[in-house]
Amino acid sequence: MAPAARRRYQEVWLRALLALAWERAPGVRRRMEAARLVPRDLGSLESLSRLPVIKKSQMPDLQKADPPFGGFCTVPLRQIRKIFVSPGPIFEPLGPELGSWHAETGLYAGGFRPGDVVINTFAYHLTPAAHELDEALNLIGCAVVPTGVGNTDTQVMIAKAVGATGFVGTPSFLMTVLKRAEEMGAGRLPFQVAQVGAEALPESLRRTFEEQYGIMTRQGFGTADIGLVAYECAEKSGMHLVDDAITQVCDPQSGKPLATGQIGEIVATVNNHTYPMVRFGTGDLTVVDDARCPCGRTSARMLGWRGRADEVTKVRGMFIHPRQVDEAAAKAKGLTRYQVVVTRKDHQDVMTFRVELAEGIEAGTVAPALEAAIRDVMKLRGTVEVVPKGTILENAKKISDERKWD
Ligand SMILES: [Zn+2]
Repeated sequence: MAPAARRRYQEVWLRALLALAWERAPGVRRRMEAARLVPRDLGSLESLSRLPVIKKSQMPDLQKADPPFGGFCTVPLRQIRKIFVSPGPIFEPLGPELGSWHAETGLYAGGFRPGDVVINTFAYHLTPAAHELDEALNLIGCAVVPTGVGNTDTQVMIAKAVGATGFVGTPSFLMTVLKRAEEMGAGRLPFQVAQVGAEALPESLRRTFEEQYGIMTRQGFGTADIGLVAYECAEKSGMHLVDDAITQVCDPQSGKPLATGQIGEIVATVNNHTYPMVRFGTGDLTVVDDARCPCGRTSARMLGWRGRADEVTKVRGMFIHPRQVDEAAAKAKGLTRYQVVVTRKDHQDVMTFRVELAEGIEAGTVAPALEAAIRDVMKLRGTVEVVPKGTILENAKKISDERKWD
């Protein structure tokens, strides 16, 4: 979809969703009324940001006050197919319509095709992930074996017996199943494609799946509340945003959208007529890149998960996260310990990257490389200070905020 067509598409469904929520979801209506807004004030991608973000952490209390769904469900209970339960607890209704998680686009981009037989090893109790993927696979035209978690030997036996071409589950369990098949003398499993999630996928592990086992391995981003909002294509260069969610990267404190390329909280509005999450703050951080992807899709890409919003520190108006500190340090090489210290001088924030060097490493070569890495990763200027071994304690905080506001 061309960018202009995507905007039109999203604004059309957004207006319909807001009108429906105003009418039938008192929880959404209460939020609009508290902000003195009506649906027509929010009907464009820009004006949507006038509605304050609702935080995931607020959901348990809101649901307790207006059980069971906090006034966020638009249909009567007799139309609900399933009720999922997330820690909190948070109750999520699944309505009558199919595809409300928007996961089939992602699975198709990840290589699943009609006729694939897929073993689904995610947990089927309480949480939606396994059910979400089952439904999406069925919509594509795949057959699913709902094997659920564990029982490795049975998984191997079933995968062999049905000729499973696809796997869904955690990357570590995929490795376990592949290894176990070899130990059992079952030979190579017929998997050709895998959608993995619920934990990090190290690139080295992905290479093993792809190069040693010939399994195209892709991942996505979503939560129980909002479904799938981003997925990897064949290029695996970040996760494309789905058109049925308006995903904004926002300042975790003010809830305002940030410029493209800045780290911020994922705030999503999803086209789900049963459970319309409007500006839902996930508490997860990411960075989005809107450069064109070689695959030909024009949607922007989420560049991975960058930690939790409650761990960020704001420096000169930009958020920095401990994972960015690690990323910059890894690029510079030759550091044994490091810590970012934020101070104030002449009413300005100062960011100092304190480092201890490995044996034989010269400060003169590390400092320029690290300063370039800081600019590249954090989009901020920082100075490098080399300190003697033992200055930075082993369990020191990655970012030490030593600003005094007096
Ligand atoms: Zn792509």
